[in-house]
Amino acid sequence: MRVRRAGRWRMPGTSPQFRGPPIGVPLQERPALIGPAAGGYRFMRSSNRSSRRELLRAAGLAAGLTAAAEARILGAADPPRDPDTVLAGLLEGNKRFMSGQTSLLTRRRPQDFAGLAEGQAPSAVIVACADSRVAPELIFDQGVGDLFVVRVAGNVVTGAGAVVKGSIEYAVAELGCRLILVVGHSQCGAVKAAMAHIDSNDALPGSIGGLVEVIKPAVTAAAGQPGDRLDNTIRANVRKCVETINGLAPILSKAVDSGTLKVVGAVYDLKSGRVDVFS
Ligand SMILES: [Zn+2]
Repeated sequence: MRVRRAGRWRMPGTSPQFRGPPIGVPLQERPALIGPAAGGYRFMRSSNRSSRRELLRAAGLAAGLTAAAEARILGAADPPRDPDTVLAGLLEGNKRFMSGQTSLLTRRRPQDFAGLAEGQAPSAVIVACADSRVAPELIFDQGVGDLFVVRVAGNVVTGAGAVVKGSIEYAVAELGCRLILVVGHSQCGAVKAAMAHIDSNDALPGSIGGLVEVIKPAVTAAAGQPGDRLDNTIRANVRKCVETINGLAPILSKAVDSGTLKVVGAVYDLKSGRVDVFS
């Protein structure tokens, strides 16, 4: 089974040796998210799509792939890319999760994982808290390969540095994701810590102080708002993350401006299981 091993993209007008990381990527065509017209990255392709598809179909059938996994790899029935459609699908999955009607074995069997070993085509990027109670594949009732998940305490992006931002950019530029969903959650411990230490100069151990520091602007932004202070701060933190992602140049900001990428904020309620999209 042939795969494109490295992202062969480059900035227009720059040397072709400026290459992406050596990570397996799906063999399907990618939407022209950030093409030359947008002044962004350009994908370089050389293989024949139809013959590649035939090869993969034969290999997939021989390996006993599920229809969904096969379709995902083949690109024959590409997973939805339109951000509104993807978001609607995630919210439908959340309804299944809330009602207990989860499709627990949907694309979660060993053969489903094996079928995706050569490439991935996730439909959305989920930026969520590392909290053990916030598991994106579960709360959206999704299977292996459906979500590109970036999890860090407090679901921070603003001030989080290149590791978090670069991970998100990679999912958009190289994997073709057109929806980024930032998911805060009720009773977030990282946000609580930022609130507790907003007025104090006490030192937190290790790097925890640095983490809390980047959430403090959300505490300030939510100050004085009517309603629950913690809930307001959690939402303010999500809004700041969404704003930061929207403005990440050159990759994400151009994709947002061209309408190919949508960044949405949401909050997950630990008790009800409901994901509430609010920005
Ligand atoms: Zn949290």
